Amino acid sequence: MTAAIDPVDLAARLIACPSVTPAQGEVFDVLEAALRPLGFEVHRFVLGEAPDGPVENLFASRGGGAPHFAFAGHLDVVPPGEGWASDPFTPDLRGGLLHGRGAVDMKSDIAAFVAAAAETVHRGTLSLIVTGDEEGPATYGTPALMDWMAARGIRPDMILIGEPTSEDRLGDIVKIGRRGSVNMWITVPGVQGHVAYPHRADNPVPRAARLIDALEAIHLDDGSDAFQPSNLEITAVETSSKATNVIPGAALIQLNIRFNNLQRGADLVELVRRTAEDAAPGATVEAKISGEAFLTPPGPIYEIVSAAILAETGAKPRLSTHGGTSDGRFLIALCPVVDFGLPNATMHKLDEAAAVEDIRALQRIYKRVIESALGI
Ligand SMILES: [Zn+2]
Repeated sequence: MTAAIDPVDLAARLIACPSVTPAQGEVFDVLEAALRPLGFEVHRFVLGEAPDGPVENLFASRGGGAPHFAFAGHLDVVPPGEGWASDPFTPDLRGGLLHGRGAVDMKSDIAAFVAAAAETVHRGTLSLIVTGDEEGPATYGTPALMDWMAARGIRPDMILIGEPTSEDRLGDIVKIGRRGSVNMWITVPGVQGHVAYPHRADNPVPRAARLIDALEAIHLDDGSDAFQPSNLEITAVETSSKATNVIPGAALIQLNIRFNNLQRGADLVELVRRTAEDAAPGATVEAKISGEAFLTPPGPIYEIVSAAILAETGAKPRLSTHGGTSDGRFLIALCPVVDFGLPNATMHKLDEAAAVEDIRALQRIYKRVIESALGI
């Protein structure tokens, strides 16, 4: 047993290091300094160049052999924005809340896990997989950490991601899967000209409008047992000209599809490509798949996390696949993954804040999780 760590104090020290994505340096120094005295071996490496990097990644482990339970998270944060009541990178305790960028997403969650590890004796391997780029493109983030682990033959049996998944109260929601996401940009070509001489031009806008109708008419699916229906949303429509007397030379349609485990990103891109070709011949489609949908099949990790939450809060969590994606989209390639952490009402917002009581209760839940995953 090692010296106790106050999770609120550690969270405050992490918040005091501005770490807008992509992150490296000081914030990792603070985490490393907390982990080493607990007996963790800590490895850090920095990858990439601007604009997607440099990104720092950290892998820490204690003990050895099987079973191997891992906690995953990120130390980067989204930009604070303007209009905070207190400085976003000066942790501020008021009204029982710890304020600061990253208080919820997800420095307090990491601090709660480290504090839990400080007071737990376990068998097997306990590790932390922490990236400095979860909020950005992740090019040098979790996938790079996974490569680093693969090169050393490191493969956890279960991963808990400490993302803030709770909604109305701590412990009400555990994420057991996430929808996939793909962005697409469709260019409908035309011929630019003067509005008074339309015979010398070719207006792409009516074709773009027909294409939007056709995209809106696509029925992707009715959802699956664990997921809501897949959904296509047009997110922007633009032309190359804002002048009132010019027929634009091109129209651009931007869309996003959040999709369930009945779909695959590449198939959706192909579907949109065919739809575009029919409704607006000559249109081109560019696509970026942010992540495929995934679902952790029922297994021990469900029970371990649910039982820990029940013991601490008196209520069982709902197992959900709603909401945005997480680095679980990558980590699921290694082993079963669930996401569970603090209430997320203020994440990414102004005046982000976590309740001190919740941080302490989360520490107790994480401690139960470690004890039941790696109990002696
Ligand atoms: Zn997060």
